[in-house]
Amino acid sequence: MSKTRVGILALQGDYAKHAQMVRQLGGDPVLVRSPVELLKCPGLIIPGGESTTMVKLLHKHELWEPLLKFGQERPVFGTCAGLILLARKLLHDYFQPLGFIDVVVQRNAYGSQIDSFIDDIKVIVLGQEKIVEGVFIRAPKIVELGKGVEILAFHKKDVVMVKQNNVMASSFHPELTNDTFIHQYFLNEIESAQTIRK
Ligand code: GLN
Repeated sequence: MSKTRVGILALQGDYAKHAQMVRQLGGDPVLVRSPVELLKCPGLIIPGGESTTMVKLLHKHELWEPLLKFGQERPVFGTCAGLILLARKLLHDYFQPLGFIDVVVQRNAYGSQIDSFIDDIKVIVLGQEKIVEGVFIRAPKIVELGKGVEILAFHKKDVVMVKQNNVMASSFHPELTNDTFIHQYFLNEIESAQTIRK
């Protein structure tokens, strides 16, 4: 079987760590900086970084419209700033996000950089529960959750990972721990979406 290709939006932020993890899992990470590169990929990771900067760069690189289309059919996984971009709406309306997941998100909800933290989170995927380390860096919070949204992880009472149809997102950084199973889950999503398309 050929290696699963995974696009990683590489305009800004910690895309290199995602690429490393995809490689570690035997996948083929492709750094995406143009519409042509995006369309070569069966799925895309949107990394953490600074969401307002990322939005500006997405427009500058003419990726906003192609991404709107891409997320209607192919698997997308956003982490931290990626979650902010994928939400339906942001508290305080900094910008209009892509709107793939019916959540309202508050940016920097835990405070500033010094309030970043690592704590146990409970991840529930494929009917299994697992406690893993969650790395939260100037993390956003999901403050409203639509009916069609599946919950994939909790930190205390907060929902910190969600999925709606082909799009998933976490407010923490799974690429910054040694645990690969969240990325493995996303690779499996890409593989099954490809099988369905064939
Ligand atoms: N605070 C950042 C933002 O609002 C997100 C932080 C992150 O991605 N680690 O875009």
